Amino acid sequence: MHDTNPKNPRRVKAIVGLRLLEVVRDRDLPSEILEEEDPAQTIPRRLGLSDAVERQIRAYRDDVRKGVRLTDEGTTALFTLVNRRSDSDEVFFSTGRELVKVRSPFRWGQVLPTSFQYMFARTFFGWYLKHLFGRHIVGLAEGPFNVEAQGLFFREGDPKGKVCHFISGICQGILEQIGNGSAEVEHSLCQALGDDRCRWEGSFIEPQS
Ligand SMILES: [Zn+2]
Repeated sequence: MHDTNPKNPRRVKAIVGLRLLEVVRDRDLPSEILEEEDPAQTIPRRLGLSDAVERQIRAYRDDVRKGVRLTDEGTTALFTLVNRRSDSDEVFFSTGRELVKVRSPFRWGQVLPTSFQYMFARTFFGWYLKHLFGRHIVGLAEGPFNVEAQGLFFREGDPKGKVCHFISGICQGILEQIGNGSAEVEHSLCQALGDDRCRWEGSFIEPQS
């Protein structure tokens, strides 16, 4: 696994793989498996409780501690494996949302007008995606908090665009933390569904007075 092939550089933060498998494990409660009757659903779900997953979680934890990054290939293989689950959209969304830890300078905007909070959210998003993936894979578009991507590298055999919920979750987590409240994110265009690009439109939800 620890190849140093320059054609296959390690650019992806290991925390991505670690959180993804932790979300899988935490969702796979034994009672849920016993109640499932459809083997097409139970077999991929058992993945979360297997020794292999625990071993891989420990390996990713080591990688995180040592600052070892993952290859695009390894990341794609992991996303593709998780995508076999019937609940993969929820797993990807939770992973993205739980990954996000907005640093304090970006959270000081809570006392400022909403337009500043959107600016902080856009700035943090740009920095954070580059931090996670080692280059820009998603770009900012016109509007308060709109982001777009073409050909997300970790999508493979994903006809329903479920891996896109990973980006939705990241947007959601950023908006919630920067606005210190509720937010909503719509995945309004999707390449998996025939659009020319993927697009996410996020907004703060103003508290009801
Ligand atoms: Zn999409």
